[in-house]
Amino acid sequence: MAQLISIDRARQSAIAEASAVLGDGMLVAIPTETVYGLAADATNPQAITRIYETKGRPRFNPLICHMADLEMAERHAAFDPLSRKLADLFWPGPLTLILPLKAESDIHALATAGLDTVGIRVPRGFAGELIRAFGKPLAAPSANTSGRISATSAAHVETDLGGLIPLIIDGGACAVGVESTILKVEDGRIKLLRPGGIPAEAIERATGLTVDRPTEPGVIEAPGMLASHYAPSASVRLNVSTVRPGEALILFGGVRIAGMETAGLTLDLSPAGDLGEAATNLFGFMKQADASGAESIAFSPVPFHGLGEAINDRLSRAAAPRDR
Ligand code: AMP
Ligand code: MG
Repeated sequence: MAQLISIDRARQSAIAEASAVLGDGMLVAIPTETVYGLAADATNPQAITRIYETKGRPRFNPLICHMADLEMAERHAAFDPLSRKLADLFWPGPLTLILPLKAESDIHALATAGLDTVGIRVPRGFAGELIRAFGKPLAAPSANTSGRISATSAAHVETDLGGLIPLIIDGGACAVGVESTILKVEDGRIKLLRPGGIPAEAIERATGLTVDRPTEPGVIEAPGMLASHYAPSASVRLNVSTVRPGEALILFGGVRIAGMETAGLTLDLSPAGDLGEAATNLFGFMKQADASGAESIAFSPVPFHGLGEAINDRLSRAAAPRDR
């Protein structure tokens, strides 16, 4: 079983132990502000291969490479002025930028899936400190079995992957709770590749520019954005107005739903209607609903603005038809 180290109790030894394990080419689950990451040395092909094996990813997708700061990021990727501005505005934080990979970067092609671009993020807090101490970028997808619900606590990671990895760093519950927003600047325009922890509206406000949403819905712009993802074992129904007996019910904003007294379990993502609180609770509540043994999880509508865009994106993937 994985060793667990709490950053509250032993921050320095967490950094030292994690650096040592990463230096040996092994994996460490680490807390970030979005979700827990399954981290590997992004320059080490054996280590990156372990990510795919451990997650059971069906094929090689590009992984987000996490950097300590802008300076480290600039050693690996070329920044156009607008990408640079986005980095200045939102790093450290839940923003990933897709940028041209520099020829001198030693990030391994397995981490970029052989693309000439790289997805880069500078996380807040412990993850950033660890990368600074380790001195190299970390490739880190979410610390969960491929296709399953992302982990937002060390206990979730332990249940899912504890038997497969040597070390889990426990940093408590993730503050944001959904993955990073992925942007790509093209011809001076900002393209949203994946909604996430920074609402598109916040990016528009900060830059004064429009954020382009995918023109054709369903076209997968960022490789690896599989339709079915975040799938609990139970089936998922969205935007329900009635509840079936025995269903697990997940509400938003304190609404009342017909038949809710017959639900097997009822949770509210945010009784006060706060989308930030709802994002933080989303994956944990999905796991709790799944663990209740209900055959189906019903969600009441969640508004589409702000973080609601990322929440609805994850919900539609959780509800998508599954191919396995
Ligand atoms: P995650 O699973 O949260 O680690 O996010 C990884 C996702 O980031 C991938 O599945 C892609 O959708 C996206 N991504 C990473 N690198 C690139 C890249 N170079 N070009 C386009 N999308 C990328
Ligand atoms: Mg994931």
